[in-house]
Amino acid sequence: MGDVIPFGKKPTPKKSTLCLNNHHKWEVVKERAFDVKQGKLVTQERCVRCRKTRNKLT
Ligand SMILES: [Zn+2]
Repeated sequence: MGDVIPFGKKPTPKKSTLCLNNHHKWEVVKERAFDVKQGKLVTQERCVRCRKTRNKLT
């Protein structure tokens, strides 16, 4: 009978510090999609860590 050492108790943070500092890891979701609001072609990107999306003008 040994002592049970709890480990891995720290909850995984949903957002990484990088994301909180606005350093997202963008991946392209849709390239050259037409943004109706802007009337322009944009590239839709999403952060692989926090799932935030953004539109980038192409
Ligand atoms: Zn992010």
